[in-house]
Amino acid sequence: MQNSSAQQLSTNQRLNSRKFSMQSSKDSRKMTYDCIVIGGGIVGTSSVYHLTMRGKKTLLLDQFPLPHTRGSSHGASRILRSSYDKPLYSHMTVEAMLLWKKLEQETKTKLFRKTGILVIDKAPYEEFEKSCKSVVECGGQYQEISPEELERRYPGVMSLPVGHRIYMENDAGTLKADKALISLREQIKCFGGLIQDEEKVQHIFPGEIVTVRTNKRTYKTKHLIVTAGAWTSDLLKPLGMNLPLSVERISVCYWKERVPGSSKKLPVFIDYSQDMYGLPCSEYSGLMKVCEHSGVKITHPDKRDATFNQTKDLNFICDYVRENLPGLESKPAIVESCMYTLTPDSDFVIDTLPRYPNIAFGAGFSGHGFKMAPVVGRILGELVFGDKLSYDITSLSAKRFAKYSDSSKL
Ligand SMILES: Cc1cc2nc3c(=O)[nH]c(=O)nc-3n(C[C@H](O)[C@H](O)[C@H](O)COP(=O)(O)OP(=O)(O)OC[C@H]3O[C@@H](n4cnc5c(N)ncnc54)[C@H](O)[C@@H]3O)c2cc1C
Repeated sequence: MQNSSAQQLSTNQRLNSRKFSMQSSKDSRKMTYDCIVIGGGIVGTSSVYHLTMRGKKTLLLDQFPLPHTRGSSHGASRILRSSYDKPLYSHMTVEAMLLWKKLEQETKTKLFRKTGILVIDKAPYEEFEKSCKSVVECGGQYQEISPEELERRYPGVMSLPVGHRIYMENDAGTLKADKALISLREQIKCFGGLIQDEEKVQHIFPGEIVTVRTNKRTYKTKHLIVTAGAWTSDLLKPLGMNLPLSVERISVCYWKERVPGSSKKLPVFIDYSQDMYGLPCSEYSGLMKVCEHSGVKITHPDKRDATFNQTKDLNFICDYVRENLPGLESKPAIVESCMYTLTPDSDFVIDTLPRYPNIAFGAGFSGHGFKMAPVVGRILGELVFGDKLSYDITSLSAKRFAKYSDSSKL
C-alpha cells in the first residue's frame, strides 16, 4: 500500500516536473527560478539533482558543452573510501556511499565497484594511524599486512620498501565518475530540472532576486549556488568574496601492464609516504591509473594546458612506478589533464555570502570532493534555502579565510 502511494506520488511529481520543464524551456528568460546553479561538475549537478527532487524549479548552467574535460569531474573513475582523519568527512562519506547506491537503483546503472583499498605509509606513520582509527570509527574493518605479504599477494605487481606499514580495507572501491554524472543529469531531466550548457555566466547581480547574465541570456532567480570549480574566484571576487583558492594542473597517467591482466586483482591504493595513488584498470584496457596527489600550479584554469612540460613534470612519478610497481612499464602510455582547486588547509569551503544569504557557494574540493558530492550537493541546497543543515559545517565556513574578503562588498 505504502509502495503504490509512493509510486503515485513519484508519477505526479514527474508529470508536474515535465509541465514545468516544457513551460520553462519556452519562458526561461521571463520566469524567476527557485534556484540557479552555476557549474555542471559533480558538485553543481548533485545540488541540482537534490533541488529538482524537492520540487524546486532549478536551472543548471555550464560554460562548456556537457560532458567536457576542462574542469575537475571528468574521467571514468574516482576513489570511494570512508577512512578520513576528519570525522565530518568520514560521516559524509558513509552517507555518500548510500546515496550513490540509491542513484544506482534509480537509474539502474552500476556506479560502484568494490575493490578494497591498500593504505600505505612510512615512519612516523602519522596518516596511517589516523586512517586506521577512522575506519574503526566508521564501523569498518581493516587488516594490516607486511610488505612481504603484499608481494606474496600481488607477485611482480607491487613491491614496497621494508618498514612501510600497509593495511587493507575491504569496503572501499572505485566510482564510475562519467557514468555518475550522466545518471544525475538523466534524473534531473526526468524530474523537470533544466540544464543549459554552452552558457558562460558573465555577471551576477545580487539582491532579493538575483540576476544572472550569461553570454546568451539573462535569468532571474530567488536563490543562487556557485559551484564553478577552478573558476570560482572569477565569479565570487566581484561579489567581494576573495577566497584563497589555488589551482593545480594534475597529470592523470595510465601505465601499461608488462603482462596483460597482472594487476587485475590489485585493489585501489593510496601511498601517503610519497603522495601517490593508483586504481585498477578501468578506463583503458590493460592500463592502470597511477597519479601523484599534487600537480603544477597554474595562474588560471583557462591556461591549464599552456605551459605543459610533460617530461619535467613526470620525472617523480616515473621514478615511483619504476621502484614500486614493477609490473608496469616505466613510462606512462597516456597522460591526461585535470585540475585540483585547493584551499590552504585542503578542506572544502561551503558557505553563503554574508550580505546575501540567498547566494551559496561550494569550492576548494582540494582533490577529494567527488565521493562526497551527493551529500555536499544536498547541503548546498539546505544552506541556500535557509533549511536546517544535515551536518555541522562550521569548520568549512569561509570565515576561516576572513582576512581575504573585501568587507565593503560583503
Ligand atoms: C585527477 C583527479 C583525480 C581525483 N580523484 C578523486 C578521487 O579519487 N576521489 C574523490 O573523491 N575526488 C577526486 N578528485 C577530486 C574531484 O574530482 C573534485 O573535487 C570534483 O570533481 C570537483 O567538482 P566541482 O563540481 O567542484 O568542479 P568542476 O568539475 O570543475 O565543475 C565546475 C564547473 O563549473 C563550470 N563553470 C565555471 N565557470 C563558469 C561560468 N562562468 N559559467 C558557467 N559555468 C561555469 C565549469 O565549466 C565546470 O564544468 C580528483 C580530481 C582530479 C583532478
